Amino acid sequence: MNVLPICQTCGMQYAAPRSDCPICTDERQYVPVSGQQWTDLDTLRASEYTGLVREEGPGVIGVGCEPKFAIGQRALLVKAASGNFLWDCVAYLDDELVATITAHGGITGIAISHPHYYTTVIDWARTFDVPVYLHEKDREWLGRPDPAVEWWSGETKQLTEDLRLVNLGVHFAGGTVLHWSQGQGTLLSGDIVQVIPDRKFVAVPSRPKVGRADQPPAELHFGDRRDCRPAW
Ligand SMILES: [Zn+2]
Repeated sequence: MNVLPICQTCGMQYAAPRSDCPICTDERQYVPVSGQQWTDLDTLRASEYTGLVREEGPGVIGVGCEPKFAIGQRALLVKAASGNFLWDCVAYLDDELVATITAHGGITGIAISHPHYYTTVIDWARTFDVPVYLHEKDREWLGRPDPAVEWWSGETKQLTEDLRLVNLGVHFAGGTVLHWSQGQGTLLSGDIVQVIPDRKFVAVPSRPKVGRADQPPAELHFGDRRDCRPAW
């Protein structure tokens, strides 16, 4: 049984019932005109939602649900040589989705770009018995504090020989990207950094073409942005 409250608008799960969702009352999200609404994993599992897993590119598998829930979050299962790693998170999780991910080799850890993807990460961490790496600058936003979370600090955290977290800020102070060094290198950016259509530059919407796409992430510098778009 899992009836911990989940915000219907943003997908954040909280440790106990409450009247408001700080993520949604924050200026980077919104409370719908119909007011704050809550659900929970048991309710979602009993309704029309199903897990969705699909290839997103070489060694990267998208994880989400359909129909869209909350802000349409999508996680990415990164098939790194050091082990499968879950980048970002989604609120929906059921036995079938667990079985599908397990069939892909399971996961060895989870990291999240920014609080709009925290969702039900504690359920994910407990289900797969793995740590969650979150930047300490965003500690106030986690709705369900748990010992599974390893709060890291500073500009970078080397997770394994091929996976490194980089704190770029931008959207939230703890905004993080994941650098996967395999091959030519891959930057998993959440919506902290976006590749613009010519694929030569990376950008945030308020400051287009701020850095070359082939530069290492630590050399990129960005301004502020306030909106958040679903990944799917
Ligand atoms: Zn919310």
